[in-house]
Amino acid sequence: MNSILPNPNGIRRIGVLTSGGDAPGMNAAVRAVARTCEKNNIECIGIYRGYSGLIRSDVVPLKARTVNNMTSKGGTMLYTARCAAFKTEEGLRQGVDACKYLGIGGLITIGGDGTFRGAEKLANAGINTVAIPATIDNDIGCSHYSIGFDTAANTAIEVIDKLSDTMQSHERASVVEVMGHGAGHLAVYVGISVGATAIVLPEGGFDFERDILERIREGKFNGKHHFIIIVSEGVTDTMALAERIQRETGVETRTTILGHIQRGGSPSARDRVMASRMGHFAVEALLKGETNQVVCYRDSRLLLTPINEALQMKKPLDEYMRRVSYELPI
Ligand code: ATP
Repeated sequence: MNSILPNPNGIRRIGVLTSGGDAPGMNAAVRAVARTCEKNNIECIGIYRGYSGLIRSDVVPLKARTVNNMTSKGGTMLYTARCAAFKTEEGLRQGVDACKYLGIGGLITIGGDGTFRGAEKLANAGINTVAIPATIDNDIGCSHYSIGFDTAANTAIEVIDKLSDTMQSHERASVVEVMGHGAGHLAVYVGISVGATAIVLPEGGFDFERDILERIREGKFNGKHHFIIIVSEGVTDTMALAERIQRETGVETRTTILGHIQRGGSPSARDRVMASRMGHFAVEALLKGETNQVVCYRDSRLLLTPINEALQMKKPLDEYMRRVSYELPI
């Protein structure tokens, strides 16, 4: 199968950038963009350091061979940055000028909500843009999945499994802080996977006595010797929480803050496949004449959502997942 799309807008060159926090799988998405361009006889250029590189026209040609082996590489070969200057009128004007100067007929921006806002402004200024959701927090409202989540969850699980081995030997409790950026999707997913006794989430608040102490006491009564408590970053002081658990239960408690380790590593199969599909889909969308859109994964398929609608969509925590996380660790 070797179909070349009609390309009614006569796009000759597509730019791609990664922006905001990095996420495993961004490279696979860049590779998919570069190769889908090549397949359609279009040039592809990579833009370094997100919008910061765009306003400086800091670019690299991306050929099929430039992106060799990129599915397995963590991080982003294009680097990423947060560029405050791009939020100003002057910054936007520079971005638009750079797109024209570079001959960019379509721009693919890979990142989170902030990255979408930048893409929306460019689209409103006449630059064709399509955005791809990539953030380990999986908190993008319009898409059930964002690139990086699965790898981050697996990294957290691997570390917690190791911690569990040693903590179990000493009959200790482990308090582990995971990332989340104000959303509990990663914490619940990881919590279910490791059988956490309690999960402290940003959604709905938590009651120390009911949600942690009682559950540890009940676990002890049921013969448990080791307890994992997952804390979503930013909800509470994780160190202080651990000290309080030790004080009030008498169980020796240790804290681990996973931090940026969750952003690194070779992408999981799910992230490689999702990123490949989304990158391919984004190029095809531009070639079909789409602009100002986000590539979304909903109900097991990819579709486009206008950026302004996408930015208004919320993603509440999955209540069934939350119930499972609560009811199984007894
Ligand atoms: P993450 O979820 O990892 O934080 P993100 O894409 O939301 O990713 P931000 O730092 O919010 O990360 O945004 C990335 C970049 O997008 C910003 O540094 C800025 O260059 C651009 N950007 C964000 N908001 C806007 C805006 N309102 N107007 C123009 N550009 C924006």
